[in-house]
Amino acid sequence: MTTALTHQDWLDRAARIEIATGLFIEGQYVSALAGETFDSVNPANGAVLAQMARGKAADIDRAVASGLAAWRDGRWAKQAPRARAEVLLQWANLVEANSEELALLETLDMGKPISDMFNIDLPEVLKTIRYFAECIDKIEGVVTHTDASALHTITHEPLGVVGAITPWNYPMLMAVWKLAPILAAGNCVVLKPAEQAPLSCTRLAQLFVDAGGPAGVFNVVNGMGTEAGKALALHMDVAKITFTGSTAVGKLLLGYAGQSNMKRVALETGGKSPQIFMPDLYDFDAAVDRAVGGIFDNAGQVCNAGSRLLVHRSIHDRFVARFIERAAALYQPGDPLDPATTLGPVVSQTQRANVMAKVQRACEQGATVALPVPGSTRPLTLPGGGAYVPMTLLTHVTQDMAIVQDETFGPVASVQAFDTEAEAIALANDSIYGLAASVWTADLKTAHRMSAALEAGVVWVNCFGDGDMTQPFGGYKQSGNSRDKHKDSLLSYLQTKSTWISLV
Ligand code: NAD
Repeated sequence: MTTALTHQDWLDRAARIEIATGLFIEGQYVSALAGETFDSVNPANGAVLAQMARGKAADIDRAVASGLAAWRDGRWAKQAPRARAEVLLQWANLVEANSEELALLETLDMGKPISDMFNIDLPEVLKTIRYFAECIDKIEGVVTHTDASALHTITHEPLGVVGAITPWNYPMLMAVWKLAPILAAGNCVVLKPAEQAPLSCTRLAQLFVDAGGPAGVFNVVNGMGTEAGKALALHMDVAKITFTGSTAVGKLLLGYAGQSNMKRVALETGGKSPQIFMPDLYDFDAAVDRAVGGIFDNAGQVCNAGSRLLVHRSIHDRFVARFIERAAALYQPGDPLDPATTLGPVVSQTQRANVMAKVQRACEQGATVALPVPGSTRPLTLPGGGAYVPMTLLTHVTQDMAIVQDETFGPVASVQAFDTEAEAIALANDSIYGLAASVWTADLKTAHRMSAALEAGVVWVNCFGDGDMTQPFGGYKQSGNSRDKHKDSLLSYLQTKSTWISLV
């Protein structure tokens, strides 16, 4: 997908856009019961975009009750699988037809370049919905081999009402990675989007209803994590919580499940992904370009961002020099509404301050800022007061530094030199995280050996971030306990029933 609109066109549309501010419950927009709101702020310029309804526990109760009623009367789960597939396919068509509005909402809300919305987010949203729609009537059960006195079937049934809690870095896409398999499996859902990016997901729910989805099946409650999110995770009528977000909040959710109804908890959490560059890599320039993209796409606000660059000592200095040169060539900071912009602000001034504080701390511990080049004359385009963080590369870092161990979630990479393969693997695996990793080498045996040794749910060889819907996405260790994408994620929103029928 591309946008033919100019910067001025997008500015004009932004000035005219109408924002739906309500919660979306039982097929319609409603105010929060307590009447409270919170501001949605454009991180590119600090402007308040809208006062959004601030859902709390009572609103979660209302949304879950709506989902439960829809679940119990079977208005979705009991439809023929093909009929549900047709609704999801029509939903995707409506998302596509409304892509300019949805792209604009998301760009205004979280500062993502409008071109990224068309190159990445929207195509992936569409692929996800269509993939799971097509899976619906391919789910099959089993008749097991028993003796002639019985018939035994193993079948898969939806769970009921699922709660989804999602982050702000790809607001619609992270939500749809949950919503599409949840709905395809026949469940009802209450979605709690991130409070930093609340504009787009209620529109997704409206479009689901416009596509023929029954009211009450897909509800959205915007609000704070500690209010609406916590209430959803503690709710006694929610069968499963599926979450993408930080590791710290993921741990809280496991606790909430234990304090309430022992609901299932699926977690996709943080990352600190290493990229290992072996001395024999066959296309040095292409590898460096992917290293640059691996950390600066989406201003580094990517769970699998390649934030730890491990480079063989023999190519380290050349790698750093090339990385600096290519970052300037490949990324254009600017107004996210300008289609030429490829690097926007981070999501908020709070996030900017967090990221800058982590860089500052690393420097106090001995790291060197190689990018932005000290004394560089290349001006950074910073539209009025935006939450921009410069593309940053840190050298002279050590494994014990927080910048190497902790997730930064901004456009900041560190680079470390290694001498041996064993050392590279040890550095890569020395992390509480295990979401993704990559290895760059021209040798097939090295590639196999190292990808097997890497403790990560996703390993890329001679690429970074590649994949399609057949790729299960999720982490080892404290990066999570579940997988999005792939048809297995649909199975994770189903439960297994064994039916033993006596034939005597
Ligand atoms: P976050 O954990 O702060 O918030 C995520 C969601 O949880 C938000 O909707 C928030 O309101 C909610 N929340 C916060 N506190 C809560 C509580 N006590 N109870 C219930 N809900 C609560 O994360 P974020 O800052 O929005 O997103 C960034 C994080 O997401 C990063 O750590 C990133 O790595 C992770 N992420 C992971 C993946 C993945 O697939 N593994 C993908 C994208 C982002």
